[in-house]
Amino acid sequence: MPTEFNPRRLDVAALAEAQATLDGAEALHQFARLAHDCSPGPDTPAVTWQARGMRRALAGAGTLPALHLCVQASLPLTCQVCLGEVATPVQVDRHFVFVADEATAAHLDEDSEDADVLVLARDFDLHALIEDELLMALPLAPRHAQCPQAVPMSAQDEGFDAASARPNPFAALAALKRDVSSGNRGGQVH
Ligand SMILES: [Zn+2]
Repeated sequence: MPTEFNPRRLDVAALAEAQATLDGAEALHQFARLAHDCSPGPDTPAVTWQARGMRRALAGAGTLPALHLCVQASLPLTCQVCLGEVATPVQVDRHFVFVADEATAAHLDEDSEDADVLVLARDFDLHALIEDELLMALPLAPRHAQCPQAVPMSAQDEGFDAASARPNPFAALAALKRDVSSGNRGGQVH
C-alpha cells in the first residue's frame, strides 16, 4: 500500500481502498488558470482542500472507488461595481465516483445526481480537479457587500474626456505596424 499520495498523480483506487485522506494548503499561484481570474497580490495560502478516499455504491455499477472533495478558498476577485479587490470566499463540497472507462462514465453520470462520475486512473490529476471545481464555483459578478468608497462617477467622466482628447493609441500602433512591415519588406530574404 502506498504511504504517500501525490495529488497531481493520484492513484485513486489505492486512496479509496485505504480510506485515506489527502489535504493541502496552497498559494494561489499554484493554480495558474484560477490565478488568471484573480487580482495579483501577496500570495498567501489561499486554497485549502481535503480529499477523502472511500468506496461507494452506485446503482447499477456496484461499489466503486470514490472521493469526497472539500475546498475552501478566499480569492482576490475584482468587484464589478468599484473595480477594487474583493476577497471572495469560495467553497466546494462534491462527491466523485470512478469507473473504468468513458462510456460507463457518460452513461452513469446522467443517472447520478449526488456524485460526478469520472474515469479511474492511476495518475489522476486531483490538483486540476480542485482547480476546475473552484473555477466553476466562482461568482459570475463578484462585488463588495458595501464598496469601500463611493464610485467616483465625475472623476471617471473627466478621465474619460482626457483620454479621448489624446491621440488614439490604436491608430498610433497601426502607424507603427505599417512602418515595421514596410521595413520588413525591404529586408525580406527569399
Ligand atoms: Zn466594490
